Amino acid sequence: MTMASADPRGVAAASLAETCPASIGDEIYRLVTELFPICRSVAGEGVRETLRRMQREIPLTIHEVPTGTDVFDWTIPKEWTIRNAYIQSEAGERVVDFRRNNLHVMNYSVPVRANLELAELKKHIFTLPEQPDAIPYRKSYFEPAWGFCMAHNAMMALPDGRYDVVIDSSHDDGSLSYGEYRHDGALEDEVLLSAHICHPSLANDNCSGLALLALLAKQLAGRRTRYSYRFVFAPTTIGTIAWLARNQDATNRVKHGLVVTCVGDGGGPTYKKSRRGDAVIDRAAAHVLRHAAPSSNVIDFSPLGYDERQYCSPGFDLPVGVFQRSLFGAFREYHNSGDNLHFVRPKNLASSYKMVCDILDVLERNFYPRSTIMKGEPYLGRHCLYAVESKGGVGAAANLPMLWVLSFADGQHSLLDIAERASLPFATLIGAARALQSLEILERADTPERTAC
Ligand code: ZN
Repeated sequence: MTMASADPRGVAAASLAETCPASIGDEIYRLVTELFPICRSVAGEGVRETLRRMQREIPLTIHEVPTGTDVFDWTIPKEWTIRNAYIQSEAGERVVDFRRNNLHVMNYSVPVRANLELAELKKHIFTLPEQPDAIPYRKSYFEPAWGFCMAHNAMMALPDGRYDVVIDSSHDDGSLSYGEYRHDGALEDEVLLSAHICHPSLANDNCSGLALLALLAKQLAGRRTRYSYRFVFAPTTIGTIAWLARNQDATNRVKHGLVVTCVGDGGGPTYKKSRRGDAVIDRAAAHVLRHAAPSSNVIDFSPLGYDERQYCSPGFDLPVGVFQRSLFGAFREYHNSGDNLHFVRPKNLASSYKMVCDILDVLERNFYPRSTIMKGEPYLGRHCLYAVESKGGVGAAANLPMLWVLSFADGQHSLLDIAERASLPFATLIGAARALQSLEILERADTPERTAC
């Protein structure tokens, strides 16, 4: 009999983290490189093209919400199409060209065709004087405006004179697109995993999150799991609001959730707690990060960030936190051309993937253990569990996880409770608990109301 079939909730024997492919960092990076060049926006062909590429990894459904649809306090905007954008000097040189880097045009710019003096043109140029070689990322979704983004040094080098300015764009009725994929587990209860899909060529923010979750969904597809998993790939804010508006009933099934963003840089890791602050996902993520890296950072909920703001809004208050490496907005490459394919590294993507898997493994495998020998410690020697005790105290240390489990196996403490109390990794305690289970010293004390422990 395998451990998997011994588990009444149908959880696979090997953990997600144990079974993640050795090449996972390279696989995620390969998908990042394919998604990176696509010019995405809040609505339009760029998002659709991105979702279609992701469909080669997982059979996700693409949903379309028509322009003009009201979603809570918001209205779905028009699609944005950008065909070309450049600034051309009198000498005929294209000093800024959207085709070289799609950050060069302010995202969602209205069309323009003009011939302007440099001083007039500069009113529509955005730069980063403190990072003079970087191109900033700017957008204007809700105010009709046009603009270019370029390196500050390049702008300062422009000679006086007149410039041809062209933005060949249009805003048309269409739809906002988002992608969704559900993996069915033994329970209807769901873990929500969400990544935003509206930023253009920024690798960490958030090609990395999209690619990581797509490959995680692919790995989950071949597994039996306790929870069902819902993946949402939506334009930030309004896309997530649209998903929430259309799935209000489904949100009742969300027991845990993570927004995944900026997972390819070498900083952090960082976990931002849900608005609740003490949800199981908050405890599981904080526990995993504490043991994964001394540099880890767990921060409280705040109203600045990504789509956790929508999932955690008072009308939903879902237990959804954020997993990222460097805190958004706090790294030098944030929202500029420094966030490119050199900034994101396969080894960082691999370690982020492993940490997300470790968090999900806690959710999947957590249970309430109860000892079958509650009065006095079990005589472990009888069960050959104290065999190395005499070797200079090494045995005691080796048995420590087992002793922690037994000390709290009263049916009232979950394994996560015990792992936190013992300051031992959850995976270590699971190993100890399984050894005790195999000897029938330990049993599950899960109750229906605790199935989502
Ligand atoms: Zn961003």
